[in-house]
Formats: sequence, structure tokens, C-alpha cells
Amino acid sequence: MNQKTYGVVPGLNMGLFSPKELEEIVAIINKYDVPMTKITSAQRLALLGMDEEEQKKLKTELHPLIRPVAVNGVHYVQACPGSQWCKFGTSDSLALGARIEQISFPEPLPGKVKVGISGCRMSCTEPYVRDVGIFATKKGWTLVFGGNGGGNPRLGDIIAEALTDDQVVDLVQKCLTVYQQNAKYKSRTARFMERFGIDAFKEVVLSE
Ligand code: SF4
Repeated sequence: MNQKTYGVVPGLNMGLFSPKELEEIVAIINKYDVPMTKITSAQRLALLGMDEEEQKKLKTELHPLIRPVAVNGVHYVQACPGSQWCKFGTSDSLALGARIEQISFPEPLPGKVKVGISGCRMSCTEPYVRDVGIFATKKGWTLVFGGNGGGNPRLGDIIAEALTDDQVVDLVQKCLTVYQQNAKYKSRTARFMERFGIDAFKEVVLSE
């Protein structure tokens, strides 16, 4: 067995499982004798050290517990417990995350788009260093675009504040459409924003 195989299971509700769902997942993991599992930084489940064929079968069995992945959508959405489960939460980050996960495009996005959503301004999912960062204040959602936490980090730019759920979903769609239409292949949003310019970007996405 190749100890370096690394299979990731997406669509597991931003890392939120009911105890019953977790039991079902663990039963399947035990059935396939998975050598090791890991909760990834993207709030997904990694299956480590498995044979690729077995991994495919396991993923098929997990399928009923997995949310379908959008066509040409974002790479992943991290969301904090938000107002559903955290005493500091002022907005429902998990419900918003489920909507953002379902945004799809006719063509693949130019580069990976990582999304971080936080239910209050304490920003536990680090929205300023995500391609798309969203956090709640008492006035509504703030949308930040073009952040990156990697080897060449960049703080994202605030695009708009005090947004409703529908407004922030629409604006994310617009920001990603402009990114898709103008970014070079494999260019992440941080590098794209440096080239395109924040003022020009805001002018386009906030027009209409
Ligand atoms: S960002 Fe706010 S609501 Fe979300 S987990 Fe952190 S403290 Fe709680």
C-alpha cells in the first residue's frame, strides 16, 4: 500500500456533522480499514494511506452524506459555526456557506478560489487572507476579495459592507465573473487584484 495517497472527501457540510452522521462516516471508515484520517484546513476529510480503488469505493458509500459539488465552482468554503452554534455569531455563516458552495460557472475559474466565512467580526476563518472572505457585523455582511495566506500573502480588499444574504451572494458571483473574464490562467485572485487594481475592480463589480 502506498502510504502517501491522500484522498479528500469534499461536500461534508463545511465540517459540521450531526453525531449520527459522524457515526455513519466512522462505520464506513472502519469497514474499509482506513489507516489514518485527517480533518483538513479546508474542513474536509482526508483519507490517508488508502489504495486508490478502495478509496473510490469508500467515497461512493459516503455519497449520500455528501453535498453535490458545483460545476466549475469554488475550490472550497470554510465557515465558522456562526449564529447557529456560536454565542458571538450575529449571522448564519453555515447557511451562507452552503449557498456560496453552489455557485457554478460555465467555464472553470482561472485559479483556486478559497472562501472563508465568519459569523462575526472576530473572523475565525481568516477572511482577509482568503480569495473570497466574508464576515458579519451587526449591519450585515462585509465582502473582502483578493486575499491570500500562502507564501506570497496579501490582505484582501473590502469590496462592500452591510450586505444582506442575497446581496453578498450576488456580489460574490459578480466578483468571480470579473475575475474569470480578466485573470490569466492559474493566476490567483491576490495576483489578479494587484494587476487589475482595486478601484477599477470595484467600479466594475459595484456598477448597476
Ligand atoms: S467568527 Fe465569531 S461567530 Fe464565528 S466562530 Fe468565531 S467568534 Fe464565533
